[in-house]
Amino acid sequence: MLSIKDSLLSKTNQMWKFYLFNFFLVLSVVLLYFGFYYIEDTKFGVSLILFSLFVGLFGFAFSSVSIRCPSCRLRWMYWAVKTKKINGWLSWLLNVKKCPKCNFG
Ligand SMILES: [Zn+2]
Repeated sequence: MLSIKDSLLSKTNQMWKFYLFNFFLVLSVVLLYFGFYYIEDTKFGVSLILFSLFVGLFGFAFSSVSIRCPSCRLRWMYWAVKTKKINGWLSWLLNVKKCPKCNFG
């Protein structure tokens, strides 16, 4: 069980950025679903699919850039995605207690 309340993200009041990321991700999947649903109405379906990809990328880019260490400005999410395994960065991000660069926390 993840102890999100003890994570550095909530301590530094950045949890909302992570929730926003989840929101954009869900929105992206929903749009993608409708995009494929309306794929026969070509223009609309394709537009929806492209838009869903944009929404997903935007959410990811926003959180990657904005979730940072208040002390050394290290981009935690970006750092985690870059250095951890594909199935490891998320739990690292939610469980991190100290900044890997400056030990803030
Ligand atoms: Zn730091």
